[in-house]
Amino acid sequence: MKIITTISEMQSLADSLRREGKTIGFVPTMGFLHEGHVSLMRRARQSSDVVVVSIFVNPTQFGPNEDLDRYPRDEAGDRAKCEAAGVDVLFMPQASGMYPDTLPSVFVMVERISDILEGAVRPGHFRGVATVVSKLFNIVKPHKAFFGQKDYQQCAVIRRMVKGLNMDIDVEVLPTVREPDGLAMSSRNSYLGADDRRKAAVIHRALSAAEQLAGTGTRAPELLKSKIQTVLKQEEGIEIDYVEVVDYETLAPLSSTKDVMVLLVAVRVGRTRLIDNIVIQ
Ligand code: AMP
Repeated sequence: MKIITTISEMQSLADSLRREGKTIGFVPTMGFLHEGHVSLMRRARQSSDVVVVSIFVNPTQFGPNEDLDRYPRDEAGDRAKCEAAGVDVLFMPQASGMYPDTLPSVFVMVERISDILEGAVRPGHFRGVATVVSKLFNIVKPHKAFFGQKDYQQCAVIRRMVKGLNMDIDVEVLPTVREPDGLAMSSRNSYLGADDRRKAAVIHRALSAAEQLAGTGTRAPELLKSKIQTVLKQEEGIEIDYVEVVDYETLAPLSSTKDVMVLLVAVRVGRTRLIDNIVIQ
């Protein structure tokens, strides 16, 4: 596996791969890799000639009081996981290379969809995400890019950005990989103490309860929402940020049943903020 840390080297490698007619599959991450990330790498491995993974903890997507400084890191473990998954190139740029200006002036904005849900709680978050993903796309020059459904709104923002800017990249979204008790895998789960970790399993229990309810024919958004809230409230110490039932494309809250609905949850367990979702067909 080749490790690249400079933007210019990554760009020239991407150019020469493209000249050779190779397809580039790309998995952008912030590191502290787990099975969720690895599932994206495996899919990229199956469907591209060359697999590039990036690890970059992107400062522009963190708010001033968020966890940028304590975001977990494990460079040696990450390298080993990439190597085992058959990754060809690990791209690990420096923050100073990605953002040479003290005050960056160029951003990519995907309006409206970036301002609701996660964007309402984390102002500027999706501006940072859209900016760094476009920069990485311009550096890695992939044919295909792979993202996880766990970050549903992020996927929606990226799909819009790719479409809106006519980027010639195929975006594939893969299912959420979960722990045995249903908790969605996340680098941030490492913040949870044993008690909070146990409590966090309620998120998936709540989403599954709503899914089950929908399966029996009760599909009214208000009823699904209230089912999720009821189950979440059964676990002490879970603070609900939002529970929403939304349209799968626009993410607009639904007041009546639709064929495809997305149930989105964000909670705080102690100091840790966790998100999850489930799509109901
Ligand atoms: P992150 O390192 O958290 O920025 O995530 C990098 C990519 O991995 C994003 O596309 C995430 O949606 C995806 N991802 C994170 N957790 C999971 C998971 N549990 N299952 C599937 N994909 C995931």
